[in-house]
Amino acid sequence: MDDRHRYTRSRDMTTLSTSSTAAPDGSEDAPLTDGFHLVVDALKANDIDTIYGIVGIPITDLARVAQARGMRYIGFRQETSAGNAAAAAGFLTRRPGVCLTTSGPGFLNGLPALANATTNCFPMIQISGSSNRALVDLQRGDYQDLDQLNAARPFVKASYRVDRVEDIGLAIARAIRTAVSGRPGGVYLDIPGAVLGQAMDAAQGAESVWRVIDPAPRQLPAPEAVDRALDVLARARRPLIVLGKGAAYAQADAVIRDFIESTGIPFLPMSMAKGLLPDSHRQSAAAARSVAIARADAVLLVGARLNWLLGHGESPQWAADAKFVQVDIAASEFDSNQPIVAPLAGDIGSVMFALRDGLAARPITVPTEWTDELAERRARNDAKMTERRAENPHPMRFYNALGAIRSVLQANPDVYVVNEGANALDLARNVIDMELPRHRLDTGTWGVMGIGMGYAIAAAVETGRPVVAIEGDSAFGFSGMEIETICRYRLPVTVVILNNGGVYRGDEKPAGDSPAPTVLNAGARHELLAEAFGGKGYHVTTPAELRAALAHALASNGPSLIDCELDPSAGVESGHLASLNPTSAANRKPAVSAGG
Ligand code: ADP
Repeated sequence: MDDRHRYTRSRDMTTLSTSSTAAPDGSEDAPLTDGFHLVVDALKANDIDTIYGIVGIPITDLARVAQARGMRYIGFRQETSAGNAAAAAGFLTRRPGVCLTTSGPGFLNGLPALANATTNCFPMIQISGSSNRALVDLQRGDYQDLDQLNAARPFVKASYRVDRVEDIGLAIARAIRTAVSGRPGGVYLDIPGAVLGQAMDAAQGAESVWRVIDPAPRQLPAPEAVDRALDVLARARRPLIVLGKGAAYAQADAVIRDFIESTGIPFLPMSMAKGLLPDSHRQSAAAARSVAIARADAVLLVGARLNWLLGHGESPQWAADAKFVQVDIAASEFDSNQPIVAPLAGDIGSVMFALRDGLAARPITVPTEWTDELAERRARNDAKMTERRAENPHPMRFYNALGAIRSVLQANPDVYVVNEGANALDLARNVIDMELPRHRLDTGTWGVMGIGMGYAIAAAVETGRPVVAIEGDSAFGFSGMEIETICRYRLPVTVVILNNGGVYRGDEKPAGDSPAPTVLNAGARHELLAEAFGGKGYHVTTPAELRAALAHALASNGPSLIDCELDPSAGVESGHLASLNPTSAANRKPAVSAGG
């Protein structure tokens, strides 16, 4: 505690002072600490070195103290982006990402990101200052008053409040434990301004802070569950492994690969699991996705949920008699959509080790008819894709632009890719191959727009590596002001905007005088935004220009934005999710006249 600042025992207990003075009652001066310092001490004691946030009443000093004590503080322009950055940091590091927000509206702006983190199973803690409880609870109208503790509750794994300065260490420990253990998720930690400013004896404060031991303990599967699962896979004629972002998060890359290669079972990565094994791997069924899903008779789900992203495991997308085996840390996930014939409850690392070791006694061989069938479909789809990328229409369309991006990224496989939009997401996911684990972050389980800049900032901050954010022009708008944050911190982030001038596409004719609901500004020069804040801007209209601009931007290792002008007629409504659009009966059927 030797570097702890001393606090004067004045009426204003938050006055920072490096010298000690006598207390007003004349008693011996003793070193004091306060809530601000204890939050920082507790985070640091648990190796949390970064805070993403926006300052304001009552947490400004918390950010200052954090920075003064060697933590990284990244200040944003809107709290949702700060929260998204914290969520992505959690996914990338397996430590909870921390987002700091002010009371009331600031807290509420952060909450969607915390909810999104929980939905995606990313560990995150939102720490928010809050107003005077005595006034809030009696609804007396305090500055930015809101019952934040309860407002957060439905959206998070847990919502806690600290009511006494001496509980801060405990509260941080509890928040960390809750965020990362079992199924990871979001935790809300409410700290009223009065508690942050409360002083206490520094030595006692130091004792109130602790380091959480083994925050996400291993959870081993039962041996009989392992046997049952291997049995199902060994009997299958057409087995398939689906890797989800839980598998990417688990950082058990080597044993997952070992199991897949030892068995020869084809694998299908969900979008954020791309790169766990390289997309170029011979066992990847990514380019034969629909056949793999439709024909598999036994499916091992590793950190992937049978939710909407996998058609709920239903026929006809899946074979009606497909048997599902599932690895998940949350046993309540089993049977959520389909019967799970062999549930494997445990952490992915431990389960995959057990499965791999079980192969010695129960080897698995995959019939070659199955691997040949997938290889044949893959070759056919690859050829089609190559053809589409090679077309060179003017103005550019999605495939040609993405083909150019792909060629640059192939030469730079260690670049992190962030991706959001409708067509920009669906097509980039297919065109851009990933070679390394946890290098792709996207809209995830909610298909949420607005994660782009927050995720890109976190990827750059946490890894120090270059990031390319492939954005639809509409998606970019949700967090676009964070281009200033990217420029302010001189982060190696290149934002590529696939600009077709609209939501889905930019050529819809309006019903009246105003622009159609899906239309944005096709002539927008987004690159000027980067230039406004000291970054590099590019405007490109051909694949060759895009390739050159992206290569140049990556080489600069600094903030850049490439506005990529596409044909406004490029793109389809709702991307690959058109079937989720409710079409009214009136629109679907021709009107029936009264006379029949
Ligand atoms: P995707 O969208 O890629 O299919 P999901 O987010 O639906 O992936 O699924 C991730 C699953 O992984 C969740 O059900 C979660 O409980 C599980 N999970 C996360 N971390 C671990 C872990 N370390 N061990 C086991 N399961 C995990």
